[in-house]
Amino acid sequence: MFTRLILGCRHCEEQLKTTKGYSYNTNGDLQLPFSTRTEFKEDELTELFTNHYHCPFCGESLEITPRMMKCITNLFQKNFHVDIQNDFIQITNGELSFAVPVEKEINSIKEFLSKSGVQLENAEQYLPTKDDIELIQIAIREFDTSKWSFRIESGKAHEPFVSATGLWFNGI
Ligand SMILES: [Zn+2]
Repeated sequence: MFTRLILGCRHCEEQLKTTKGYSYNTNGDLQLPFSTRTEFKEDELTELFTNHYHCPFCGESLEITPRMMKCITNLFQKNFHVDIQNDFIQITNGELSFAVPVEKEINSIKEFLSKSGVQLENAEQYLPTKDDIELIQIAIREFDTSKWSFRIESGKAHEPFVSATGLWFNGI
């Protein structure tokens, strides 16, 4: 499995959901008649940074700023997945999943989780560092997360990406 950045226009995804219907797959990921999202591998990032992202359906564009690019290239080296949902940064390695509020200052993920009642031993190697979280938080301020979906699925993670959001809706 290779690491990939997945970008998508939420507006067009919603439109497709309304007009064509949708389901969720076993990973809890949204299944549409066709995908409105686009995947980028590591060797495609330079081109993305130069040309920016354009929704293939409505033509709206998402400018990939230097701060976003710094965050993206950093996350490509990591062994966890990152998905931005509303005001939360969802982090998972397939085994362990948690969400960090976009605006919350984090000194240590271990400390943040222990305050939520999650005690972890020897898990540091799977957790983002304070710097990782800061880079993500800085990058998020550069674009409208209600308009664009942004996810990095790591090829180095324990397990493939599983969407917590999809799984919640799956049970309804
Ligand atoms: Zn669009």
